[in-house]
This record gives sequence, structure tokens and C-alpha cells, in this order.
Amino acid sequence: MLENVNKHFGELHVLKDINLTIDQGEVVVIIGPSGGGKSTLCRSINRLEPIDGGTILIDGKKLPQEGRDLARLRADVGMVFQSFNLFAHKTILENVTLGPMKVRKVGKAEAEQTAMQLLERVGIGTQAGKYPAQLSGGQQQRAAIARALAMKPKVMLFDEPTSALDPEMVKEVLDVMTDLAHEGMTMIVVTHEMGFARRAAQKVVFMAEGQIVEESTPEEFFTNARTDRAKDFLSKIL
Ligand code: ADP
Ligand code: MG
Repeated sequence: MLENVNKHFGELHVLKDINLTIDQGEVVVIIGPSGGGKSTLCRSINRLEPIDGGTILIDGKKLPQEGRDLARLRADVGMVFQSFNLFAHKTILENVTLGPMKVRKVGKAEAEQTAMQLLERVGIGTQAGKYPAQLSGGQQQRAAIARALAMKPKVMLFDEPTSALDPEMVKEVLDVMTDLAHEGMTMIVVTHEMGFARRAAQKVVFMAEGQIVEESTPEEFFTNARTDRAKDFLSKIL
């Protein structure tokens, strides 16, 4: 949950009084023009970016500024980026076991067992021993999702997870995300994939120039956007 969140980069006011509630098990899609502050919002939710004002609560707990509490809270927020961000010199299995072993202090055998289950679940169990560069973009992104899930996060953030992928690989990643949504994961997803929003999201947030301009159901937003700003944006991506 975000309350009156504000953020500046120097003179630039990137997040302007953002108020957003995400219920447990809810999937929120954030959509809007480039430069509107969507990535900054995601990064501020797990404090990759500090905010200047306001409050962010995860599971009822206020996000601390630093220290051990922050590391623990951050571990509760899984993040998947546009660029897959896997460790290039580690195998897919190692990529997935690293976090749980280091941060959650899980033993190696258990971490590997969980990792294999997750890799099977995202459909790349047979790739576990390979290095990221040996996988397709879609497989790498699914590995990144498995890696985030291995930390047993309370919330998953996805920042344009399919926009760096070749078109034929978009579906395999969206299918994994749709399954996750239907299994009850709380998710914040920055994407322009309307099919995903309609299938999986309860809420669409349209963000522009650092502000939440509209908040509605996917159906309402895509068929009957209220503001000219949103209508204009939709006319460009449809
Ligand atoms: P979006 O993800 O919606 O495209 P961003 O959150 O990436 O938007 O960016 C919002 C604004 O903040 C843009 O004007 C961008 O140039 C600026 N910005 C983002 N990151 C930084 C940074 N680290 N330093 C300065 N300006 C930044
Ligand atoms: Mg962005």
C-alpha cells in the first residue's frame, strides 16, 4: 500500500502524491506513457529508490529506510525486470538457489529441491544446468521469475517483463504470469499487454507524468477510459 508517495530526481517531480492500495492476492496492471514514473514506482516499492515523502507498507509493515529490516522486507518483494538480470556466470539452478541460501539461510539440498520444482513449474526444468546465455529470452525470463519465486515473496513486481522479448516468446512468459495470478499471488505488473490485463488483473492503473490518472477495472479501462489522456494513449497502442 502506498500513501502520498513523492519522489524527485533533482528538479524533476517523478512521483506526485501516489496513493495505491493493493489487496492480498490482487493483480494490478500499471500502464502509461514512457517517462511517466512506472519504473520509479516499482523501484521505490522495494527501496531500490528512496522516496522523499509518504509511506509504503508491505503486508501492514512500514518499509524502513535501511538496515536489516530493509533486507528482510526487500526479500518479501520479488522483482522481474525487462532485462532478465540473471547472473551470467552461474547456471540457471545456481541463479535460483543463491538468494534462498544467502538471504533465507536455506540449506543447499532443500534450496535445490525447491528450485527444481519452480523450474519445472515455469517449464524449464531441463535447462537447470545451463548458463543464461544458452537459453532463449523467453526461457531466461521464466528463469528470472523462478528465481524471484524461490524467495517466497509476498508480492511480485514485474517491470515490462515481455518488452525485450521476441514476439513468439511473449506468450510463454505471460502464461506463467497468468498462472501465478490465478494461484493467488499478489502482483504489480507494468505492461501494455492488454490480453494479460483482461485475463489476470483486477485493477488497471493509468499513470502519466508522475500521477495516477485513472484507476479502474481492465474492462472499464480498455472499453471506456474516462480521461482524454488515457484515451489518447490507448489510441496509440491499440
Ligand atoms: P517509465 O518507467 O514510466 O517510463 P521512469 O520511472 O523510468 O518512467 O522515469 C520517470 C522519469 O524519471 C523520467 O523522466 C526519467 O527520465 C526520470 N528518471 C528515472 N530514473 C532517473 C534517475 N536515476 N535519475 C534521474 N532521472 C531519472
Ligand atoms: Mg519503465
